[in-house]
Amino acid sequence: MRTGPRRVFAQLSSTSPPAHPVRLVDTAVVLGGSVAGLLAARVLADHARSVLIIERDAPAGGGRRGVPHGLQIHLVLAGGRVQLERWFPGFGEQAAALGAVLVDPAHSAAFSDGLRRVNVQEDVVLSCSRPFLEKQLRDRVLALPTVRFLTGQACGLDIDATAVTGVRYRRDGVQHVQSADLVVDAMGRSSRLSDWLEHAGWKRPPLRRVPTDVNYATGFFRREPGLPDVANVVARHRPGSPVSRVGVASLKAIEDDRWQITLACSGEDPTGSDVDEFMALCRSELPSFFGDAVDGDPVGPIETFHQADSRRRDFCADSVPARLIAVGDAVASFNPVYGQGLSSAALHASCLAAYLQSSPHLTAPARSFFAMQRVVVDAAWEISTAADKARHHPDGSPSWRERLGRWIRAEVQTASATDVVVARRFRAVTVMLEHPAALLAPGLVARAVLINLRNRLADGLGRQSIRPRRAECAASTGTKSRCISSALTRALDALTLIAATVRPRAS
Ligand SMILES: Cc1cc2nc3c(=O)[nH]c(=O)nc-3n(C[C@H](O)[C@H](O)[C@H](O)COP(=O)(O)OP(=O)(O)OC[C@H]3O[C@@H](n4cnc5c(N)ncnc54)[C@H](O)[C@@H]3O)c2cc1C
Repeated sequence: MRTGPRRVFAQLSSTSPPAHPVRLVDTAVVLGGSVAGLLAARVLADHARSVLIIERDAPAGGGRRGVPHGLQIHLVLAGGRVQLERWFPGFGEQAAALGAVLVDPAHSAAFSDGLRRVNVQEDVVLSCSRPFLEKQLRDRVLALPTVRFLTGQACGLDIDATAVTGVRYRRDGVQHVQSADLVVDAMGRSSRLSDWLEHAGWKRPPLRRVPTDVNYATGFFRREPGLPDVANVVARHRPGSPVSRVGVASLKAIEDDRWQITLACSGEDPTGSDVDEFMALCRSELPSFFGDAVDGDPVGPIETFHQADSRRRDFCADSVPARLIAVGDAVASFNPVYGQGLSSAALHASCLAAYLQSSPHLTAPARSFFAMQRVVVDAAWEISTAADKARHHPDGSPSWRERLGRWIRAEVQTASATDVVVARRFRAVTVMLEHPAALLAPGLVARAVLINLRNRLADGLGRQSIRPRRAECAASTGTKSRCISSALTRALDALTLIAATVRPRAS
């Protein structure tokens, strides 16, 4: 029986840990001890007698060499947050006890081109810096009795005719070999796994790139202790928006009584690393929360980062040796403005759990793992590359399917700024709780199109009456557009009724 991507995605988003994990291997080795590696190690701890994480950087607070973007803002989307709680029950509360800020919907705000969006956040957002998050994760993983952390640089794999048998790594200038029953590549987007496979006579997984050309600038500012009135703000602007040159601006209250503010732009960076320019831009072009935040003293310099492209490696199970898995950015890394990386890594861990729980034959390549992971990667890729593809046209002219997809997404996105029903579904997809196919539901698309038509009409009428009543309409001198607007309103009400009675089916 074929299972559609929406259903697979829903299964992977499960919040319950496996009830009776099956112990399958003696030694599992994870290469890379960042977020994806730590989450994979947590899953493996249920299925291996021992788990060894080999990481180039020694555990440290603050920024580190292996994660040069670590000081930029990192939002944990709801889809990733539920997975953190799944694998580490009480993660959010524990992080909050150590200084992270838990932000409920009443303390969050989002803006599109300067206008405040309807707020449909239902979950509590975990707000902290990336190094803080990583430390909490590492502490929880290393508290597991079977997990060890080794500082060393992985430099190759041992592969026999069909399967990976071990890992080579360097430590203090000396090369070592560690035998392994299962190896996980979590070495991030610059992973050398493809080179190693090719060197051993296997096919390199094809690499796809879509230019992003995105520039980040992040500043930290002192804030009053306690939960501020608004602790989590995102302001987005369309390219060429008259409101601001900043594409996405984010503001978060984080640990140590600091604000973290990130300004991200595609193309030319309007701020550079000058703290005065950064503060001036926050005061002049962004919602007032940003200006208020930069009234606090700056803490450290403005940190900048450039990302040139989104990239994905399409692992085909037929051309990978057995006993080999890859997770996180080593498989796919996205335009960061969509904040999908950490949540994708968490869902890859979910794929690993589902794979191992199915008691697979480890003598064969991890076919079902890569199939599930492809669903997760496709979902994030579709959302995060759509605008960049349209901007850069790397694939030539788009097919009619792509054009239709773009049109539908644009309609749904536009309607989501003002309509709660559309906004809820749109948010569920963008925070990775649901597969993007959910946006194609005919009822939702029809509703979005009608909302947008009505709003355009209302704009045309100078917003005199957004929801005119039938009597009003008849009593009026019968302007055509008022009647159309009223009819659209009634159609919308009918759609809402249908949507409320018919439960959406996962396909
Ligand atoms: C500017 C920016 C902002 C972002 N914002 C967000 C956000 O808001 N929300 C979000 O979810 N995601 C965000 N991301 C994406 C997120 O940072 C990544 O998806 C995430 O770091 C991926 O984790 P990972 O563990 O796969 O890889 P990485 O975090 O890159 O870690 C790879 C690890 O492997 C280690 N390593 C590499 N080579 C070796 C080797 N040979 N031997 C041993 N160890 C090795 C490195 O030292 C490192 O620790 C952002 C990314 C960028 C660039």
